[in-house]
Amino acid sequence: MSKKFVSIRDVKDHVGQEVTIGAWVANKSGKGKIAFLQLRDGTAYFQAVAFKPNFLEKFGETEGAAKFETIKKLSQETSVEVKGIVKEDERSKFGYELDITDLQVIGHSVDYPITPKEHGTDFLMDHRHLWLRSRKQMAIMQIRNAIIYATYEFFDQNGFIKFDSPILSGNAAEDSTELFETDYFGNTAYLSQSGQLYLEAGAMALGRVFDFGPVFRAEKSKTRRHLTEFWMMDAEYSFLSHEESLDLQEAYVKALIQGVLDRAPQALEILERDVELLKSYIAEPFKRISYDEAIDLLQAHEQDADTDYEHLEHGDDFGSPHETWISNHFGVPTFVTNYPAAIKAFYMKPVPGNPERVLCADLLAPEGYGEIIGGSIREDDYADLVAKMDELGMDKSEYEFYLDLRKYGSVPHGGFGIGIERMVTFVAGTKHIREAIPFPRMLHRLRP
Ligand code: ATP
Repeated sequence: MSKKFVSIRDVKDHVGQEVTIGAWVANKSGKGKIAFLQLRDGTAYFQAVAFKPNFLEKFGETEGAAKFETIKKLSQETSVEVKGIVKEDERSKFGYELDITDLQVIGHSVDYPITPKEHGTDFLMDHRHLWLRSRKQMAIMQIRNAIIYATYEFFDQNGFIKFDSPILSGNAAEDSTELFETDYFGNTAYLSQSGQLYLEAGAMALGRVFDFGPVFRAEKSKTRRHLTEFWMMDAEYSFLSHEESLDLQEAYVKALIQGVLDRAPQALEILERDVELLKSYIAEPFKRISYDEAIDLLQAHEQDADTDYEHLEHGDDFGSPHETWISNHFGVPTFVTNYPAAIKAFYMKPVPGNPERVLCADLLAPEGYGEIIGGSIREDDYADLVAKMDELGMDKSEYEFYLDLRKYGSVPHGGFGIGIERMVTFVAGTKHIREAIPFPRMLHRLRP
């Protein structure tokens, strides 16, 4: 079937031909007999040029002049159907240009609120539905898409099955203070914070599973790394050691970066992301240090002139400044392993011979992006898990299905979760997580 419209990304396949493009006018310039339109259609931006004499020749004096006038007066974000001949153009970054032969207005746009001048963040967030049309936001969404695509590809290639965990749940996965509650026919249901507990059932049924869906955290954080609704990919696998689990996570993160380099190079260019630096994260092995080594390192450097984090004792949890310092110190993604049991979730398995520490790892992204992955080996021994839950005063009746997994053919297993928006922010090199999701939900933001 021949298509009426060619997308801007594909004009390279039509050099010298007349094509029809459905697009929006992002910007316009020109003078006298010539008009330049910056067109966008979501796949890319490129320039289209209208030359008045060509219109007069093709359509006659009156109609030709009227058509050219329409083009000259097009306002920002007017949608148009443009016909033109694709030309190679070495001066433009995109490499191609359109020589306009005809143009029809599809939808008018009067006083588009987001002009090429600078706007404040609140204004842009209030107009998120329109802000998404801008060049930088398009690039970030293309990177997000490449990361999602690479996720499915990686897990498929590594023998994982997509296993969707529920969003509504009758119990809490971890911290009940961070749960959104909702009425469920007169009972309380919670919105999922993580699919992990259910994925463990999947790992016992199917060996290697992953899920990818929205999760919800009612934490009142106002940092540039926290959303109240974000998309999490959880993976869970049976018969894998802690070290093998870290190998898998490293391979996955590298596959995501490679996926963006392969599938969204123009997006990285628009964002002026340092591509050589991204490539170095693929080429170099990730650093692995234990929590206790990290504390020693932080203590040894706390008097340095360029550090500004608080003193920590062994047993304390890191804050953002500590995570930032650690990952900057190594300059590559860094796994911090074996945290104190007291500051981690109940289901993590203790380090053999050291019950104070658990077999877990957080992956800290370099350049100050902070934690992108949290993972662990799970407690697979029924009696030990029950003892831990009793110690924490947990209601075991809420976790019967979870305990059953330890009763019937329990095996060593582990997994990890990655917040896709944290990964997008890191690869895109943007500052704030709110731009990494189409419509961010945050403490003070539920609209649009
Ligand atoms: P943090 O300490 O940064 O709040 P966490 O320890 O609560 O994170 P986990 O529960 O281990 O995080 O969740 C796994 C992953 O989900 C994190 O590594 C991160 O990538 C992502 N994540 C966690 N909380 C958020 C959030 N509020 N917004 C966006 N992503 C998040």
